[in-house]
Amino acid sequence: MALIVQKYGGTSMGSPERIRNVAQRVARFRDAGHQVVVVVSAMSGETNRLIALAKEIQAHPDPRELDVVISTGEQVTIGLLSMALKEAGVDAKSYTGAQVRILTDDIFNKARILDIESANLRRDLDAGKVIVVAGFQGVDAAGNITTLGRGGSDTTGVALAAALSADECQIYTDVDGVYTTDPRIVPEARKLDTITFEEMLEMASLGSKVLQIRSVEFAGKYKVKLRVLSSFQDEGEGTLITVEESKKMEEPIISGIAFNRDEAKLTMQGVPDRPGIAYQILGPVADANIDVDMIIQNVGHDGTTDFSFTVNRSEFEKAKAVLEGVRQHIGAREIVGDNKVCKVSAVGVGMRSHPGVASKMFRVLAEEGINIRMISTSEIKISVVLDEKYLELAVRVLHRAFDLDQPKA
Ligand code: ASP
Ligand code: MG
Repeated sequence: MALIVQKYGGTSMGSPERIRNVAQRVARFRDAGHQVVVVVSAMSGETNRLIALAKEIQAHPDPRELDVVISTGEQVTIGLLSMALKEAGVDAKSYTGAQVRILTDDIFNKARILDIESANLRRDLDAGKVIVVAGFQGVDAAGNITTLGRGGSDTTGVALAAALSADECQIYTDVDGVYTTDPRIVPEARKLDTITFEEMLEMASLGSKVLQIRSVEFAGKYKVKLRVLSSFQDEGEGTLITVEESKKMEEPIISGIAFNRDEAKLTMQGVPDRPGIAYQILGPVADANIDVDMIIQNVGHDGTTDFSFTVNRSEFEKAKAVLEGVRQHIGAREIVGDNKVCKVSAVGVGMRSHPGVASKMFRVLAEEGINIRMISTSEIKISVVLDEKYLELAVRVLHRAFDLDQPKA
């Protein structure tokens, strides 16, 4: 007998029919003798609908009240799934985040989980019940409802698996696993049987939307066995997210090509080249809560330098306005920006032991006449910023160049 946490996303909860299908799957696991904790998202589109509704009342919704509103989507699906389970002859019980007591900090709209009380859940599990927990929500020490950020149900699933020392956390979604790249761009993309936590973190931060990034961090930290599977297929092992040691030597060097369309680049030209300047520029950007990704400072000449960085495209105008203030303050020449750029990355732990991945990547892009605007590297990733129009071409040629379309021997 194993204890399994299964998380079902919004698409899997999208209609009564689909909820019944989920109940059938849960029932099969239960009948096979396993204890099952189910974590659910709201019905697909529901959270967006609730956010839009809130914005009709208040252009910038009060964060506490917004969480009161948007946490309701999951309260609906836990009730519906529990009913469907009962209809299927399975004893089930729903729990909101507060009823479990998923304790979070008090940062509304993007709270972090601090602790989970597991005693009640265990008692119900031992009594033979299937537990259905609302994803995405928790409660702070003062009893306020909080939510965990978009896609946060993944994190609820992993956190529950960690708190209950579950044997496995299964994330059921509308794809059957993690792919070498987006199959909508490269039809030859293959499903990976395994991917390491580190690779998955890079893929998630680089735009692969399969898992919320925080859930991957959580799983890595607490050593939760995490698997991504399709909720529309009965067969298949999905993709198992592993620790690196278990990867075989002959695994490919590159595991995937990730990309992000929503990038924007900002450059401050003619910046006085002196100590503290990077902090003077990026400090105010961070204070404005804007995430900065790649950063490049050119070699100085004539006592000035150019300083560039990328942000999410949705924050382009805001970042530009902040920079304009900084520019006047430090006496830099000019701000130029480009919000028609994208980022393409090759990811793989095999890079650590194989030199030459970067040069191969640059050669392949050069052969297609694609100009690289910025480069950044980590131990297991090489990212380039390109003009947006080259995104699909770059992903396709890199996928082929690194043999990702070849079935594994
Ligand atoms: N319903 C929430 C959202 O749409 C949480 C989730 O689906 O994971 O972001
Ligand atoms: Mg999701």
